[in-house]
This record gives sequence, C-alpha cells and structure tokens, in this order.
Amino acid sequence: MNIFSHILGFPRIGPNRELKIAQEKYWNNEISKDELFSVGRKIRKNNLKIQKSACLDFLCVGDFSWYDHVLNNSMMVGNIPTRHRNVNNKVDIDTLFGIARGYNSKNNFACSSEMTKWFNTNYHYIVPEFNKNTYFKFSWKQILEEVDEAINLNFNNIKPILLGPISYLWLGKRDNNTVFDKLELLDKILPIYKNILSEFNKRNIKWVQIDEPILVLDISKKWLESFIYAYNYLNNKNLKILLTTYFGSISHNIDIIKNIPIDGIHIDCVSEKNNLQNLIKMLSKDICISLGVINGRNIWKADLQKIYNEICFIKNFKRNFFISTSCSLMHVPIDISIETKIKKSVLKKFSFAIQKCKELYLLKKCLKNFNKNFFTKKNFFYNSDVYNKRKNVYIKKNDLVRKSTYEFRIKQQIKNLKIPILPTTTIGSFPQTKELRNIRLKFKNNKIDLKKYNFEIKKYIKNVILEQENLGLDVLVHGEPERNDMVEYFGQHLEGFLFTEFGWVQSYGSRCVKPPIIFDNVSRKKPITIKWTKYAQSKTKKLVKGMLTGPVTILLWSFCREDLSKDIISKQIAIAIRKEVKDLENAGIKIIQIDEPAFREGLPLRKKYIKSYLSWAIDAFKLSSSVVNDETQIHTHMCYSNFNNIIDSIIKLDADVITIESSKSHLKLLDCFKNIKYPNGIGPGVYDIHTTNIPSVSNIYDTIKKYIKIFNIENLWINPDCGLKTRNWKEVKISLKNMILATKNLRNKI
Ligand code: GLN
Ligand code: ZN
Repeated sequence: MNIFSHILGFPRIGPNRELKIAQEKYWNNEISKDELFSVGRKIRKNNLKIQKSACLDFLCVGDFSWYDHVLNNSMMVGNIPTRHRNVNNKVDIDTLFGIARGYNSKNNFACSSEMTKWFNTNYHYIVPEFNKNTYFKFSWKQILEEVDEAINLNFNNIKPILLGPISYLWLGKRDNNTVFDKLELLDKILPIYKNILSEFNKRNIKWVQIDEPILVLDISKKWLESFIYAYNYLNNKNLKILLTTYFGSISHNIDIIKNIPIDGIHIDCVSEKNNLQNLIKMLSKDICISLGVINGRNIWKADLQKIYNEICFIKNFKRNFFISTSCSLMHVPIDISIETKIKKSVLKKFSFAIQKCKELYLLKKCLKNFNKNFFTKKNFFYNSDVYNKRKNVYIKKNDLVRKSTYEFRIKQQIKNLKIPILPTTTIGSFPQTKELRNIRLKFKNNKIDLKKYNFEIKKYIKNVILEQENLGLDVLVHGEPERNDMVEYFGQHLEGFLFTEFGWVQSYGSRCVKPPIIFDNVSRKKPITIKWTKYAQSKTKKLVKGMLTGPVTILLWSFCREDLSKDIISKQIAIAIRKEVKDLENAGIKIIQIDEPAFREGLPLRKKYIKSYLSWAIDAFKLSSSVVNDETQIHTHMCYSNFNNIIDSIIKLDADVITIESSKSHLKLLDCFKNIKYPNGIGPGVYDIHTTNIPSVSNIYDTIKKYIKIFNIENLWINPDCGLKTRNWKEVKISLKNMILATKNLRNKI
C-alpha cells in the first residue's frame, strides 16, 4: 500500500491579492496584457513552490483562473455567448473579461453572463449558457500552457485539474425560453475532454483531477447514469483519472458511483464521517481513494491525532490512498503566519492554506509508519483546548415569539406609526462616497481622532436625513455611513470575533472578502448602533428605522468555531442582537429592521438537511426580534429571494414587514406568493438598484400595480430592492424621486 498527499487546489489570488490588483489595473488600462500575464505566472510559480516545499506528492495545475474557474472552462470548450463572439470567433483574455464584465470585443456593452453561488460557499461563478445548438471547440488552451509552464519550471508530478463535463453542463443555464435537456450536449462536449486528456498523456502526466462536485447532490438517475457513459468514453489507459467530489457525502449515490470506470475517487471526509469504512469497501479494489480529511472550508488547525485515529483503519486495505483537503483551498485565506496583530497564543489555533499543506505532510509521515505516538508536542502543537469553554444558551419558549399575533400587533402599529398607505422607505444604506470611505480609513489608521470621526459621520447622517425629507420618504434611515461591511461592523462590536489583516478569500472576479472568525462565545458588551440611530431620529419628525444585521447572516458570512453547533452559535449571536433591538426600542425607535440577506442562500444543498437548517435559522431570527412590544414594527430584508419551497418558513419568521429583491427577475420570484397569501407586510422592491439605469415613474407605477394584484394593498411597502451604497447620489435622488411620484399617483387613484 502506498500513501500520497495532494490538495484539490490552492488559492489563486496571491498572498497580497496580487491578482485583484493586476486585474483592476488591466481593466483601467494601467498595465499591459504582458504585465498582467506575468503576475499570473508569479502566482502560479509561488503556489507550486508552496506545495512542493510541503512535500506534497502531486502539485496542482489548472487551479488558477483569470476571473473564475467555471468561466475558464467555458472558454476552454469554446462556449462563448453569441453576443461576446467576435467576427473570426477568436477568443482571448478580453473575451473572458468581457463575458464576466459585460462588454464585447469592440468594447461595446454586451450583457454579462449571470453570476451565482458556487454550491453552498460564498464564492460566485459565472453561469455557462447553453442552447440546443451550442457547439464546442477546444479554444482556450490555458490548461496546456500551464502544464507546459510547470514542466519547464522543473516541477515534477504535476496533477492537472479540470471541471468535469457533467458538472459543467449541470451548472449552466438554458438560454431564455429554450426547452431542452442539457445532457443532449454531452456527446458534443466529451470529445474536447478526450482531446485534452490525450494532450496530458503526451506530456507524461500520471494523474488528472476531474472535479464532479454535483455527485454530492440529489441528482436524478439520468444525470447519475450519464457518469458511467461519459467516463467510459474518457477512459484512457495511460492516464489515471481521479474523480473528485466535495461539499458533501456521496453515500446516497454510491450504487452508481461504484460503477463509474475511473482510477481514483476523492471523498470529502469532513462530510463523510460515519460511513467511511463501509463506503470504501463498496468501491472497486483497483481504485485509489483520496481521503479529504483536512477541512478546506474552515480555518482551524486540524486535530491530526484525531484524524489519524479515524483513518488508521486504512492499513487493513490493500489499495493505494491519497490524503488531501476536503475541497480546494480557495475557500480559505493563504497564510496565517503573516498576521501581525493577533496574539501568538490565539494565532496557533488557526491554519490557512499554507499551513494545511504542512498538516498533510505531517499526517502522511505518521500514516506511513502507522505510529500513533507521532503527534507529540515536539512535532505538533495542537492542543485540545483550542476552543474556549462553551457557553450554553438558555432560552424560554416565550423568547421566540412576539407577545401577540400579527393581526393584533398591526393595529397597535398603525396607531403608533401613523404612516400612509403604500409607505415608502429604503433598505438602509445610502451612497458610500469616496470621502466617507476615506474618513473611516483615516480613523482606523489613527489619522483622525474619535471626535473628528464622530463629527464627520454625524454630518453624513444629518445630510441623509435632510435628503430623505426633501424627497418625501415616509420611513427614513440613518444611511449606515459607519459601516464598511454589514457583518464586519457587527463582528467588530461584539465579543467573540477575531479579524485578520490579510485573511482574504475570493468572492468573485477581483472581489475578495475577509470573513470574521467566530473564535469564542459571542456576546454584546455595549450598545452598538443606538447612538447613531438616536442622532438620526433627533434630526427629524418622521420615523427613523433602526438597522441591524441578523444572526443567521452574521454566522454564515463568518468562519465558525466547530466545537459548538450552529444552533448554539446562532443563538449566542441572536441574544446579542436582541439586546440591541430592545435598546433601540427603549431609545424611542419604533421600526427596527434586521437584515438577513444570507437566510435563503444558507439553505443546504440536499433536501435531507433543510429541515434542521431552517429550524435553527428561524429560531435565531425570532430570538433576535421577538423581544419588542406589539406596537414596535420589525422589518427584515433578504436579497436574491427565491422563496419557492421555503415560503412557509418565511411566514414563520413573523416579521411585520419583509423587503425582498424581486424587480430584477421580472417578478418571477413572486410566483410562490400567488398560491399562498403572504399574511404580513411586504415590500417586493419596485426597482433594481444593481444597474445604473434610472427607473421611470411609469415603470415603477406599473410594477406597483402588478404587486397590488398579488398582495393586499394594506400590506404593501414601496422601496428599492436593496441597499443604495453602491450607487451615486445623482442616481439615487432621481430614482427615489420617481419612486415617490409613482406612489403618490397611485395613492390618488385609490
Ligand atoms: N441594510 C443593508 C444595506 O442597505 C442591506 C444590505 C443587503 O441586503 N445585503 O446596505
Ligand atoms: Zn439586499
């Protein structure tokens, strides 16, 4: 038996976000193509060096991409939307950026391809577009160039990575109004893959990694069976295929998977804890098994002793094994050791991409000797007190429900709030100008003092209030000028969170995020938003809506501790937010919004996990919001809100008003509201804030009229579909003016 180590992919952004910086400079014509390419080469070389110095047996090639790996695959197989093709059908880096960013080869506007979430991660991919006549051609040879590049740099044992043909088809969408089975395209795409595999073969490659993550989902028999067909076709006796699955267990699909003709399979062992031995027994003796034991989605140091104990049974098997990370490391930051502000004693609890490669090295060393005493203090300083003592949360059933039913509450609220029918409001943020960002940055770097900072933020709030009064909005907001990011801001003001300086993770294209780390019990020591909200309210006679981020979103957009269930962590956060809600109410704020944009996207990939997710998520939201009196109105906001199948849960949240994003998807998202009458207040969003287009009065008027057909007019709120922070003031003022005019026109007609 042999044991090899490898990872499924390394972050491609560079240790100091070199890729982002170069991309953006290239887009602004500040650097040439050659300069851009040389940044890519440096990142790739460095990544290979890191893997080599951790003594990994196989080194990844093909995990680098200029914007997104799914888009790379579209380029590779020549699947370019017609609007982005140029006359001679040639593709280059500008075609790639054009598809992602919305221009064609002549630099004219051409609608960008849609972007959506990569499984249940916070990474977004560019959605491939297919129609019946889609054809494929090996067009973009980046993968071969990078293999050659690595060989020329004398890296041995390269393992190229491809996104598998079936997952690729599955992840794409059909062009508007075309009805056909995407699997019909399989026969057309397979020859491209076969050709690429034979090119690898010519280069003496031993193993190729083909990612087929859809094997962890609930997919139909037809899709499952297509794997047998496709991999039969791709079978190449001189090149070994490692089929990789990740983000979940494959047990439920094993009856088909065991018949796919491949040479190796990667299993996400973080998700496949209980059934691993049985699973392995079911797989053909001839195939290699790659055990994804190091968590690629979280940042805690691995407990290698525990992992060793869990997998040392492999010594009884007569087959070869790989050990690996559960998924690509693109979902974690690169290097914990460059952090300067985190205490050493805390720092050593974490492991980012580079450290995870080293963990694999240690684990392999131990497994080779089957020496269970290997992990002495000398070798490894993991200790079991990584996590601080858990704090249980005790809540009473009553804490999760409002005092009265919505029907009763709304009567009190009408008396308390005195707002007109079809009330107008916004989602919370107003334009984040350059000056504003500068003020926050200067304050953070101690270049201005607290007094000056407070003065500037108040100036912004005062102005936002004035603008809203001039526009004639009914419910005002303070504009969120003090917030850089809706989760980071709350994390920074709560106990139990940790922030890195350089812990960037790619979100999409050139955008990276720095997720907070929940490393201890969460609690609120001091009020967070009260002073700003109170100040805003003091500047107007109209109502100001308090603005908070909800517990589900705070949890899902952070790295979480693993010794506590999400249920407990979300409740710790909920209790902190609950205190803030109560303080806002006590300060005289009559409407409080708790944003939960991550609520819908947090839905698990597989049906069987949905119930338990919804159960803790609903409880957390209700725990944070139910503390107020009947006459105080709770709002919530969610983005990308496809509520099909979960509308019952949305109703269970029992928010007095929910604002959602539906204008962009041409009202399709509202289908689920046609069958079920939504009982509480709702603001479906009357215009799309994601474009620079200004919505006309008549357009908004028509949209509201459509909404009146679906919802009870008394329940309807009028608002843009998301926060305004990415827009400029000019756009915001005209759009809101039109929104208010359309509303007034309608009110006059009722
Ligand atoms: N209140 C936040 C804002 O207006 C909501 C952001 C969001 O929906 N993602 O910016
Ligand atoms: Zn939103």
